[in-house]
Amino acid sequence: MASSFTSNEPRIVIVGAGFAGLAAATTLVKSGLKNVVILEAMDYVGGRTHTVRPFGANIIEMGATWIHGQTNNPLYQLAKSQGLLAEEGFHMTSCQPGMVSPEHYFFTEHGERLPKEEVQKVSAFFAALITRIMGQSFKADYSSWSLGDFLDQEFLASGLSEPGGVDLVFEWCKRIECVDEAVNSMYEFALSQLGLYTRLDGPFFNCLGPKGYQAIVDVLVETLPSTNLRLGKPVKCIQWAGSSEKDGNGAEPSKKDTGGTIQWTNSSGMDSGGTMQWEGSSQKDAGGTIQWTNSSGMDSGGTMQSAGSSEKDSGGTMQWAGSSKKGSGGTMQWEGSSEKDADGAHHPVRVVCDDGEEYHADHTIVTVSLGCLKERAQTMFKPLLPHGKMEAIARLGFGTVAKIFLEFEEPFWPEDCTGIQLLWEKGPEDKEVYNTHKEEDNWTSDWFKKIGGFDRVARHQSVLCGWITGLAAEHMETLPEAEIGETCVR
Ligand SMILES: Cc1cc2nc3c(=O)[nH]c(=O)nc-3n(C[C@H](O)[C@H](O)[C@H](O)COP(=O)(O)OP(=O)(O)OC[C@H]3O[C@@H](n4cnc5c(N)ncnc54)[C@H](O)[C@@H]3O)c2cc1C
Repeated sequence: MASSFTSNEPRIVIVGAGFAGLAAATTLVKSGLKNVVILEAMDYVGGRTHTVRPFGANIIEMGATWIHGQTNNPLYQLAKSQGLLAEEGFHMTSCQPGMVSPEHYFFTEHGERLPKEEVQKVSAFFAALITRIMGQSFKADYSSWSLGDFLDQEFLASGLSEPGGVDLVFEWCKRIECVDEAVNSMYEFALSQLGLYTRLDGPFFNCLGPKGYQAIVDVLVETLPSTNLRLGKPVKCIQWAGSSEKDGNGAEPSKKDTGGTIQWTNSSGMDSGGTMQWEGSSQKDAGGTIQWTNSSGMDSGGTMQSAGSSEKDSGGTMQWAGSSKKGSGGTMQWEGSSEKDADGAHHPVRVVCDDGEEYHADHTIVTVSLGCLKERAQTMFKPLLPHGKMEAIARLGFGTVAKIFLEFEEPFWPEDCTGIQLLWEKGPEDKEVYNTHKEEDNWTSDWFKKIGGFDRVARHQSVLCGWITGLAAEHMETLPEAEIGETCVR
């Protein structure tokens, strides 16, 4: 067992050192709970914020770039108080429908540059439409509508539509909206959900200074004792004490435990349950007797026989018979350890890493992404998380968003150009194209069409950044870098 814990205070293991994990750790430490260990799978801290320097001294952000909104935004406040925001006047965004300017160059696939007036009349309409939808609540008739279908309906009704003309700009707007909403397609995003996003007041694209997001990560890490952070420690399994919480369908979670404290609700449902402290019944776990007092006051306590196996730590079954008429007793399965830790205490949570190292704790906070949970939750938690949580993990969705950075020997674009946006005759966010791709599963040859465009990257002379979403992004991630690069510049 690894011992990074420093005192006899409650031990807490946080899984994941992205912003959620760092925020949890710093909050606990600030409130006096210093016995905290963070286990991070990767060899760096920050998770989906990742500041790197592949193109010389200046940074690029592989993940998050901006702090969105200012009012009541703790991240913004932290960055401001530490002097980590970009210098006055510094401004950088990707090209957004609501911000199209003459410096954004829009090209069709035939190499024609679209006049800015053509672009702006559609992009301004699109931005206003999104703002309207965000503030609108939709009647039941729209409950099954996708955002894409609604946008198409409104665009058609606007009279702006011009097949082969500004319609290309409208399709581009939908591609960019996929990035903003982190969804795979506008046709896979429920119309009714857009308004659920709470946008914090103040400027939306707040930029960080020359050290980027890494500077905020560093500030947070500095507040943690150095022994608390363990990198390269993927967690394989969390054996935990179960919970008294009822899950989504009202069913009780299982009652497995590794030793320590169990919250239980008596099987009769008439007894309000209570807390039981137990120490493995003997050093050899050969079974024993536990006296308990029920917290409900209705049950006057009783005797429990535990039929533990003779092997150490192998768990077992307990039969109990509540002594009152109201608590009818029940059965509890446990995978208990009879061993005490070096500090002489029992810690009910056992966090096991891929390399076999174990951390015994009193609490754990798991901050891994929904994607990781979808992949690993079935094997990660013992017992399984309550049914409602497993159901949520299975049914919640998310989209893929990725960036592509291209470095050139020198810029090939004019000085005033802030980026090149791509317009396609048959773009992937055209409903017909979307349906065909879906039915025929034939989108892989056209994956690059999901890229919105390439924006210039701040603090770099000759680097462009493209954004891509959905299955196209996932496909791109399987391709060799050289092939991606060649496709982007051909
Ligand atoms: C390309 C891109 C651009 C983005 N741009 C912005 C932006 O400009 N502004 C913004 O606000 N947001 C942006 N986001 C979103 C933002 O990055 C995330 O919302 C945020 O970083 C999530 O933090 P988190 O701590 O919840 O999760 P994560 O950052 O994913 O942290 C989870 C951590 O858990 C670790 N982990 C996973 N499994 C295990 C395991 N088994 N054992 C141990 N550790 C494990 C992971 O390695 C990771 O470090 C962007 C995201 C992407 C992908």
